[in-house]
Amino acid sequence: MLALFLSISHLDGLIERKILEWELEISTDFDNSFICRINKILQKYQLPKAEKIMKNPPSKYKWKKTAEKAINEYWSSIWTEEYNTKSTLKHLSLQNDPVNNPHNIWKCVRNNQYDIKKAELKCKLVTGNYMLRGTKAKFSRNTVLPYCKLCRDSDETIEHFLLKIISLSDVRQRYMVKLLNKL
Ligand SMILES: [Zn+2]
Repeated sequence: MLALFLSISHLDGLIERKILEWELEISTDFDNSFICRINKILQKYQLPKAEKIMKNPPSKYKWKKTAEKAINEYWSSIWTEEYNTKSTLKHLSLQNDPVNNPHNIWKCVRNNQYDIKKAELKCKLVTGNYMLRGTKAKFSRNTVLPYCKLCRDSDETIEHFLLKIISLSDVRQRYMVKLLNKL
């Protein structure tokens, strides 16, 4: 949307730019016009106002760099703040430049539904938002039993789920060896 706005800003004398200038004149801060939505985005990322950009539109290359930097700074500060205040994120590592360099859980996702589902599950586990039966039982007033369905003799806790299910030990062992070698 910002790229489209810049392209139109460069169209001196053409109808598209004239419409934009007209919108700029008549729009208020509360309407849903294109220019108003653009201004909201620009304000969010602390970029110059639409009017200022239209007066002297930067080159596409310069604009791309400026916008990318501003968007990256915005999300970096939001995520850093959330990381420092939310205990559920304590097991996640926050990389530098998080917009261009996502967490490893997302970085290795291929473009298919199965991979995306797997990544969602991993995120829920890492952030403690996956409801294992041990937790479900506590909230269900014992209509759900806490036992692990695979072992049946232990409660399904996060520790049990990741480290102790005997029938998954072959799969787990392969990853544990790799993990321990990295430590
Ligand atoms: Zn089990």
